[in-house]
Amino acid sequence: MISTSPQENADPAIMSGVRTRTRRRQPSTAMQASVLALNRNWLAVHVLSVPRAFCLLFKGHAEVVSVEDGLYQTYDFEAWRELSELKASLGEPVEEDSDWISAVSFDIQVPRIVRLTAYDRIPTRTIKFNRRNIFLRDDHRCQYCGKRFSMKRLSLDHVLPRSRGGGDSWENLVCACVTCNVRKGGRTPREAGMRLLTQPVRPRQSPLISRHLLQRKYGCWRQFLPAATPQESRSGRLVGVH
Ligand SMILES: [Zn+2]
Repeated sequence: MISTSPQENADPAIMSGVRTRTRRRQPSTAMQASVLALNRNWLAVHVLSVPRAFCLLFKGHAEVVSVEDGLYQTYDFEAWRELSELKASLGEPVEEDSDWISAVSFDIQVPRIVRLTAYDRIPTRTIKFNRRNIFLRDDHRCQYCGKRFSMKRLSLDHVLPRSRGGGDSWENLVCACVTCNVRKGGRTPREAGMRLLTQPVRPRQSPLISRHLLQRKYGCWRQFLPAATPQESRSGRLVGVH
């Protein structure tokens, strides 16, 4: 199961006094980047926050996986720090879209992929059917007015209302802002004179991963991801669906 990892747990020894910078990008984005975690068998299992990834590296629970000239190279924390120092000393150009963190006494590049050296659980290819993944699939964008909202201000709308037999499914639930949801009420989009931006479909891979793959800097993740398969979990009833 691909999942996020909480940002807390970052080792204060690593992260205190850290400043971030991103070459050719806004300075604040380095710490907000994501890191793909592989299990010890090189299968993608999680998406980690940058502090969490560095914490695991620092503790020796993970190693950096770097794709260099088509070959996979691995580095422990110290080796990655040294390589980063070397790159930094050479100045520009560095890799396109690389993110960097400046600690008190050194600069270190944010890895895109780490391998959890003692973690051997097998990832499930089931895509969880839940609110979070529907919001991610729809990019937190109301599928009626097209505006993006925070999760707090979004609801789920049954395209075919429940009262008409519409069920909880990838194909019948979409992101909707409260205003559009209220306006639509218990009607179909056609009856309400509203149009869907896109036809809702079952995602072929984790929506979290899909969102990242839209950015070029995460393109290196692709070689560790399984071919997308149309599997899903329909178990359980969604809570708070309107
Ligand atoms: Zn709306």
